[in-house]
Amino acid sequence: MSSVDFDLIKRYTEIPSAAEQLLSKPEREIYFNLNLKIAPNRLLQADSYVVFFNTARGPAKGGIRMAPDVTFDETRHLAELMVWKTALARIPFGGGKSAIALDPGKLSRFEKTAVIKEYVHMMSLELRSGTYVPAPDMGTDQTDMAVIFGELHIPECVTGKPPRVGGLPGRREATGRGVSQSALLVLRDVLHKNAPDATAAVQGFGNVGSHTALFLYEAGVNVVAVSDITGGRRDPDGLDIPALFDYAHRNGSLDGAPGKHISNAELLASQVDILCPCARENQITADNARELRATAIVEGANGPTTPGADIILNERKIPTVPDILANGGGVIASYVEWRQAKSGSITEKSETFATVENRIGIAFEEMLKIAQERNCSFRTACQISAAEELVSSLRDRDWI
Ligand code: NAD
Repeated sequence: MSSVDFDLIKRYTEIPSAAEQLLSKPEREIYFNLNLKIAPNRLLQADSYVVFFNTARGPAKGGIRMAPDVTFDETRHLAELMVWKTALARIPFGGGKSAIALDPGKLSRFEKTAVIKEYVHMMSLELRSGTYVPAPDMGTDQTDMAVIFGELHIPECVTGKPPRVGGLPGRREATGRGVSQSALLVLRDVLHKNAPDATAAVQGFGNVGSHTALFLYEAGVNVVAVSDITGGRRDPDGLDIPALFDYAHRNGSLDGAPGKHISNAELLASQVDILCPCARENQITADNARELRATAIVEGANGPTTPGADIILNERKIPTVPDILANGGGVIASYVEWRQAKSGSITEKSETFATVENRIGIAFEEMLKIAQERNCSFRTACQISAAEELVSSLRDRDWI
């Protein structure tokens, strides 16, 4: 059931069998049908899934995804990723995830707020006790988190809130900040290139992708291609990312933005130093991995590379910074927000960014060290680092 290749990791580090058992299966799963009367004789129904994969290191942490096609399996996989991500970043959280099978694009703000309130009603026990601390994921946003806070009035019960209602300055940008930081470290420590001499392409122009592109642009990298579900834009001399950022944030997508149009397949095949897939899972597959012309990949999205594609990328020696490291900025900032909420302190945006960069930097250094010493891929190195932390935590808890 686990999506982590324990047989591979065990070639490099010792994982007791009880630890493997505990890390291979979710600790607890909840299913409920979200029922909401939205008009007389009109019922809105949504399959809803919550997975607490492992809580040895702290409360289950992970966002709420809202998408029409979301499944229990996808929720499990995302919850599992959070276990490894929080362990790799050495923050005191476990891994969890929620999903509501609804198309947020088809809900009015009023209806969406009602859906979130019903979600809180169904999950009240777990949210009040702090067993599970949600955050935004695809299809949910900071207003949804403010609604959760408003229902419970417990500042630390949810992260990703708007800064004026207990949220963290810089949380919205934090995942992109961490992805761009990972890309800049690849340029410096792996490709030995200065930012102004480097090129990048970013797939996905939502929260993660647009901020990643903007931070790379601000660091001096030539971002030559970006895309979203409507297609992409390319300029070999470097795109005007601030203008595209404003356009996409004003209009909701890149549709109609000025510039040369490219397809998503063309974007993924861009000849660049760094490709950042920041859209959604399963974008780099065994079918297109041989067409990729990027020198390195930095995974902004969760699970953008399929296992089959990963084998091909390894064969082709394309270094790939995995999602559990590269997009850890969001959960690192969530930890800062949770800590702020518990202590009542105030955090500046610069402190949020500094903590994200510091934690990503430490994990990146550890990844390079393990990959070099044990002669393995960056993905395997990150899994080894997280596995060693998880095994020690399970021992600390007397779970093994
Ligand atoms: P989002 O909904 O804000 O943006 C998603 C973007 O991807 C949009 O621009 C959309 O048009 C584009 N997209 C969707 N399908 C596409 C396709 N087939 N081809 C090209 N573009 C496509 O979501 P987000 O919050 O930016 O999350 C993106 C990914 O990053 C997800 O995998 C999510 O789980 C992961 N992630 C998000 C955060 C966070 O803090 N938001 C943290 C960690 C990981």
